[in-house]
Amino acid sequence: MEETREALEFDVLFVGGGPANLAGAIHLMNLAQQAGKEIEVCLIEKAESIGSHSLSGAIMDPVALKELMPDFLDKGCPIEVADCRDEFYYLTPTGKIKMPYTPGYMHNDGCHIVSLSKYCTWLGEQAEALGVMVFPGFAGTEILFEPDGDRVIGIRTGDKGIDKDGNKRPNFEPGVDLMAKVTVFGEGPKGSLLRELGKKLGIFEGKMPQVFETAVKEVIEIPESSPFIASNTTVLHSFGFPLGLDTKGGGFLYKMKDNRVALGFVVGLEYEDPLLEPYQAFLSFKKHPLIADIIKGGKVLQQGAKTLPAGGFYSMPRLAVDGALIVGDSASMLNIQRLKGVHTATKSGMLAAETIMAAVDSDNVSAESLGVYEQKIADSWIKKELFAARNFGQALSQKGFGKFITIGAQYLSGGRGFTDPMPIEEDSSSLKTISDRSAPIASADTQDLDGKLYLDKLTGLYLSGTTHEENQPCHLIIPDPNLCITDCYDNYRSPCTRFCPAQVYELEEDPDGTKRLKLNPSNCLHCKTCEIKDPYKNITWTCPEGGGGPKYSIV
Ligand code: SF4
Repeated sequence: MEETREALEFDVLFVGGGPANLAGAIHLMNLAQQAGKEIEVCLIEKAESIGSHSLSGAIMDPVALKELMPDFLDKGCPIEVADCRDEFYYLTPTGKIKMPYTPGYMHNDGCHIVSLSKYCTWLGEQAEALGVMVFPGFAGTEILFEPDGDRVIGIRTGDKGIDKDGNKRPNFEPGVDLMAKVTVFGEGPKGSLLRELGKKLGIFEGKMPQVFETAVKEVIEIPESSPFIASNTTVLHSFGFPLGLDTKGGGFLYKMKDNRVALGFVVGLEYEDPLLEPYQAFLSFKKHPLIADIIKGGKVLQQGAKTLPAGGFYSMPRLAVDGALIVGDSASMLNIQRLKGVHTATKSGMLAAETIMAAVDSDNVSAESLGVYEQKIADSWIKKELFAARNFGQALSQKGFGKFITIGAQYLSGGRGFTDPMPIEEDSSSLKTISDRSAPIASADTQDLDGKLYLDKLTGLYLSGTTHEENQPCHLIIPDPNLCITDCYDNYRSPCTRFCPAQVYELEEDPDGTKRLKLNPSNCLHCKTCEIKDPYKNITWTCPEGGGGPKYSIV
């Protein structure tokens, strides 16, 4: 029997509490106030609180925040370090070569180092102070369309209190239908609702594939005596070891307040080696003498992982449909050349707000009316930035030093390079089979993990604060479990057991040699790497019960 659900109506519903949607909600309230109009705006977030699923580098170019809130410093915006001084290294297994020249797009002059979780928490407070109804702990699990039509009219939040077998627990609460004239999808990379929107309305058709990178990141407290504390440098970037030049990725280290650093390593998910493990690459980077000397004597305070959209301009989906808009990382607006997306996300949220204000005013939320947003993006510096970097990710994916010739050609030709557009391959199709794999990637000595500075996955997971209701249906849908044991093990040795940074997937073997894939869904960091990288597309990530997941507070 169909559940009786409460339905709540708003003018505008923002789905996801990241920088794009928070900026959009704030800007919309400001615009309404300036126009003397009342507008009912709701924002939902699947995390337990705003900011607790937000993790990023994060070096923020404040260009958009200055437009959104010129007095952001007076309003207590949590900036870790106000000025960035960069160094850029090529790493060999034990050595380093400091690049004499840092390309312009890698310079972070005028940018701020922030903790994205703290930053989003603060933005959430600003939004609430303006009257936005902010509801954390609610996961959007279904898009609501007008009956027999294609117009988005809101979303349904997930039921709470369903047990593993699909039965109601005593604390059962049915999901709520949140209805809105306009719904804004800002779910972050690889949004699960956006996947459904793509299936129904074809928003990804005619675009390059959505591609991603996975980052593992820690905040580490380091001793006062660390050479990095006294140095003027606030940002280190590296490439080379441990991935070499044939696999895209690199490391970063940012200075934070209170003798803390943010340390991270990013791996492009178009990698080919089925035995590569992004978490191990992170550990190898961390053990490189350049980094090990800086963090020696330190202690990891928090760890997390996430994916970043790396496709850029050519992967951007259609941004407006009847009744809905798409913003930020969900719309692949991260500038992969600058490794920055907070500023583009913020600006996209603001442009969405301006579009919505006019559309709601004229009582016309059709795709055509909301399509003004696409034009606003095209006329803004977002397009200018992303267009100049339109082939950068593809060039970086090339093997060897030749990639730098292609990147140089792009740099000199405003992003065009030798081929425009350079093709992109889906991340799920790039793995070589185990028999075709080439030289091994250098991996860290896992014997040396000390539980304090060098952590195994489960200790790191503990420091992410991740919890889920254990007695709920598994949110990782694997339609054909046999495929995992037969084809996937034979051809790729079950790469999910390696690319997942949270040990959600484990291969068990009975004494008679029978293999079985065991899932630990409550470990999930919501990074979506598994859905993106699975070579058989046999994993679908769905939203678990709202409120579950990481509890980031300083990453
Ligand atoms: Fe990420 Fe998937 Fe592992 Fe969850 S199960 S942490 S989404 S790779």
